[in-house]
Amino acid sequence: MLLDGHGRRATDLRVSLTDRCNLRCSYCMPPEGLDWLPKPELLTDDEVVRLVTIGVERLGITEVRLTGGEPLLRRGIVDIVARIGALAPRPEISLTTNGIGLAKVAAPLHAAGLARVNVSLDTLDREVFRRLAHRDRLPDVLAGMAAAASAGLAPVKVNAVLLRGVNEDAAVPLLRYCLQHGYELRFIEQMPLDAQHGWQRSTMVTAEEIHALLAAEFTLTPLPSADRGSAPAERFTAEGGGLRGRVGVIASVTRPFCGACDRVRLTADGQIRNCLFAREESDLRAALRGGASDAEIAERWAAAVRGKKAGHGIDDPTFLQPDRPMSAIGG
Ligand code: SAM
Repeated sequence: MLLDGHGRRATDLRVSLTDRCNLRCSYCMPPEGLDWLPKPELLTDDEVVRLVTIGVERLGITEVRLTGGEPLLRRGIVDIVARIGALAPRPEISLTTNGIGLAKVAAPLHAAGLARVNVSLDTLDREVFRRLAHRDRLPDVLAGMAAAASAGLAPVKVNAVLLRGVNEDAAVPLLRYCLQHGYELRFIEQMPLDAQHGWQRSTMVTAEEIHALLAAEFTLTPLPSADRGSAPAERFTAEGGGLRGRVGVIASVTRPFCGACDRVRLTADGQIRNCLFAREESDLRAALRGGASDAEIAERWAAAVRGKKAGHGIDDPTFLQPDRPMSAIGG
């Protein structure tokens, strides 16, 4: 089992399949992109599956979320899902994606064993999308979400990040759209994980502000916090304009939920990270390529998790942003 020194057990594995992305969201990476990881450093499909297998069969991982970068850029993704889906005990497999290309692969992914998707969408205004993501791809994202829903990847969850002076006015239209389509929307506070180091607490749109923006048009009623478990979102029922459904707000910065954290991350180049904000990594790729047995890799992985810190430390005066940006960790 993956137990840390603060009594938490990691059961939810976030696997980054690539650090590359086909969008350039300003809160994540610069318009020109980044220096991508060289191919030989990336885990091969077989290596990804071997590590996930060790996690599931030996270490108690029950949920596997594929992410990136943009995971749909990984050619072998359908096969990777199928191989993870064939493990016993079978983990729940989900995917975080920007939705581009999802229209084509939603059905094959579902057939391969994918249970759910989270699609990132920060605005419904095509021009704002183009400015924020530096690509004119809004129609592809909306088509991807619709395809995911019809393929049975339900409920489609939508992740939105609000930036002051850029897309705050998207909060209400996004919620309306998601309620109309049966998607579950969650807003995420912007975190200091951008490659450009442009994040500022003073300009971040807080969970409290997001709540106020939504409350202008919807009545929000908190769902019991017992329902939350280790899930990071504070969830509400939202009612307004003849619509009713759920919405979540993830207050990663202003109300951290580290005490209930059950996550562990595997980067596309085979490093174990206990937290998005960790400054330490444990190199499983070196062990793997150095001929370590499954038992040895499992022991190295368990040792890494034992050292997990109590909290992400953003509020600590000594906080330093991790060297890896979000896209190279796996969001
Ligand atoms: N490309 C995929 C996507 O767009 O969902 C997966 C990777 S992306 C890094 C995962 C999520 O992280 C997205 O919902 C994105 O909006 C979010 N994200 C990226 N940078 C962030 C930041 N600085 N603060 C908060 N969320 C961020």
